[in-house]
Amino acid sequence: MSVTTAASISGSSTGIDALRRQDPELAEILLAELERQSSGLQLIAAENFTSPAVLTALGSPLANKYAEGYPGNRHHGGCELVDIAERVAVDRAKALFGAEHANVQPHSGSSAVLAAYAALLRPGDKVLAMGLPHGGHLTHGSPANFSGRWFDFIGYGVDEESGLLDHERVRELAVTHKPKAIVCGSISYPRHFDYAAFREIADEVGAYLIADAAHPIGLVAGGAAPNPVPYADVVCATTHKVLRGPRGGMLLCGEELAERVDRAVFPFTQGGAQMHTIAAKAVAFGEAATPAFTAYAHQVVANARVLADCLAAEGFAITTGGTDTHLVIADPTPLGFDAKEARGLLAGAGVVLDTCALPHGEVRGLRLGTAAVTTQGMGEVEMARIAGFFGAALRGTQEPQGRTVREEVRELVRRFPPYTG
Ligand SMILES: *Cc1c(COP(=O)(O)O)cnc(C)c1O
Repeated sequence: MSVTTAASISGSSTGIDALRRQDPELAEILLAELERQSSGLQLIAAENFTSPAVLTALGSPLANKYAEGYPGNRHHGGCELVDIAERVAVDRAKALFGAEHANVQPHSGSSAVLAAYAALLRPGDKVLAMGLPHGGHLTHGSPANFSGRWFDFIGYGVDEESGLLDHERVRELAVTHKPKAIVCGSISYPRHFDYAAFREIADEVGAYLIADAAHPIGLVAGGAAPNPVPYADVVCATTHKVLRGPRGGMLLCGEELAERVDRAVFPFTQGGAQMHTIAAKAVAFGEAATPAFTAYAHQVVANARVLADCLAAEGFAITTGGTDTHLVIADPTPLGFDAKEARGLLAGAGVVLDTCALPHGEVRGLRLGTAAVTTQGMGEVEMARIAGFFGAALRGTQEPQGRTVREEVRELVRRFPPYTG
């Protein structure tokens, strides 16, 4: 058995070749996962492909650094350089979203929501949020989650016919229940939230407004979706969905709540910050501030619109009749399949996606997103082809020249590799 010493670490090179020599078992898994991601169509709405620059920051020695606290006020020594990295991340986030304050430490979107509640609420407080059957997230009152255990959630929904938010109904629930906070955000609502309307309702009943913009925040960065920052008391977000950064969370708020939000993250809900992830967030915010990202965000939406239209033409029922975002919610029942069967058939063809609850009852739908395929460089033409794959996979028909849908998928993604070299 070999003992790893400092000398043997410093003497070894880094990267996949070194890992392969030291730990072939894990190296093989990493490479096989890269192959899986590159050889199928990644339509999971919450996923994306981070840039090599983001991956470099994630795999950097900043991963070694302990840094409890905030820049200039840490509990550990040696934080001078990671302090600079965190300040850069905070300044870039503030500039990108026009926020007075940003906290980039939450380890995930759920940690960000937990901290937002901790900053504004006490256990037992009433919270009005989108009900889980209509697209609320686990952190919006699921009994299996801290949120449902510690707070008294009231769920609002969407109109079951149109799939659209009914603000008058939200207002009635707010007036009846007088919640301490109202949460607007969803895992599957494909339309823009009207943050001004939610602000008005919150003001009418004296509630805080928390925007959980985990999904659309990347579109906000690219100017392709409305910005919740001017309306919400606290905005919760992830950095790994359309925003295309590392897996993690973020909070945005005004100066007056800054201290409460910071204390709710550390020391209330987290210990040491993950400095490699924070550096990677800074890199992603830098990328998101470029004209190329603005073009990307608009292309993500244009692609989702074409995908929704073409799936409708294939016979799928599209919730809300379309989309304003990267999300498309498609019900395969008109084609004679439930969502689970459809997901299985599509998985066999190399198309990876999720199912989600549908507004109108027991049946589930397919939830897809265009963030990852758009990062790969695909456009409207490819979206139309992808919709064709859906139809062919479910109908069991073959593609032209007798090729299987799996072969067609492989051929398409080969032309749009997420990573080269
Ligand atoms: C993704 C998501 C979250 C949670 O993010 P994690 O990083 O998975 O914890 C929270 N809220 C909403 C609305 C989301 O879409």
